[in-house]
Amino acid sequence: MDKGAITRAREKAEAGKRLSLTDALALYEDNDLLFLASCARKMKERKSGKNVFYNVNRHINLTNICTSGCPLCAFQCEEGDGRGFVLETEDIAKILQEAQSVPRLGEVHIVSALHPTKDFNYYLNVIRQVKQALPDVDIKAFTPVEIVHFSQLTGKSIREVLTILQEVGLSSLPGGGAEILSDRVRQIICPQKATAAQWIETIKTAHGLGIRTNCTMMYGHIETIEERLQHLITLRDIQDETGGFQAFVSFPFHPANTELSHLKRVGSWEDMKMMALSRLILDNVDHIKAFWIMLTMPIAQLALGFGADDLDGTIGEEKIIHAAGAKTNTGITRSKLRKLIVEAGLEPVERDTFYRPIEEGML
Ligand code: SF4
Repeated sequence: MDKGAITRAREKAEAGKRLSLTDALALYEDNDLLFLASCARKMKERKSGKNVFYNVNRHINLTNICTSGCPLCAFQCEEGDGRGFVLETEDIAKILQEAQSVPRLGEVHIVSALHPTKDFNYYLNVIRQVKQALPDVDIKAFTPVEIVHFSQLTGKSIREVLTILQEVGLSSLPGGGAEILSDRVRQIICPQKATAAQWIETIKTAHGLGIRTNCTMMYGHIETIEERLQHLITLRDIQDETGGFQAFVSFPFHPANTELSHLKRVGSWEDMKMMALSRLILDNVDHIKAFWIMLTMPIAQLALGFGADDLDGTIGEEKIIHAAGAKTNTGITRSKLRKLIVEAGLEPVERDTFYRPIEEGML
């Protein structure tokens, strides 16, 4: 990369101008982490001032038995494997009973594997059961990969599947499964699951129906830097078209217990560089989430200086990332989250799924 390209990219980043793929590559190569942090912080401050958001949420993973067998995945297993689990109505009832006692629980977040025999009704009934037990709680459920699976199970279109889910109580999609939106990469890390085109179609259809989503990226496996940065530009193009993304969440790949375990997890320098670059490239996405369960809490706290303005939530229990060796806790209290934000000199704001602030007095 010539020096001129790097200088031009730095000028654009400093001025908060839209970055092209060439600019993003130049900034990546320049590798000036503190410069990126300073530009990303400025953009974060323009979007959300000193606020850092978090919510009180509960994750539910319904099953880890999956037909897809993605090499990137440490969570899944085949039917008959002793590690397999499927939550039935009574298991979910127990989780919901516990969730009912959580003050100001705002969101239930449901993602799972692609079970070989559970039909669409099973998933609809889960949403109905959650809605009945927690009528005021937002249900963020099912990645585009799962939505495509439901479409294949039922023979219904993506639009029909999403409409039915919306009717029974789904309010947003978590946006996982994007990994890197490149067919070359997906052929290696997840050849059986939804293609890049299907992920994009599902997201655009959801946005068209008024269902807000997050967008995601899993980086640090076999993708090139250009594929990684192009992924961010693709997300930005979708957002220009639909405006339906609420937040961007990036996940460093955890290779432990996967078929790609020969790879090394990228370091914290790379995590922070991607945090800042994603804030700068995704100039039309309001929120950048530092997903503490993936990054570890000390690194997630540090990410608040690199453009992140959301620490996700209290979570309660998480299985997917921990299957890949994450050593983080499976939950955190509201007061600990707030303390971490205050320590960074920022202001904690408890939010609902749609980033509306929740007042203390609403308890
Ligand atoms: S990543 Fe998702 S679809 Fe792929 S094997 Fe794991 S649970 Fe199944």
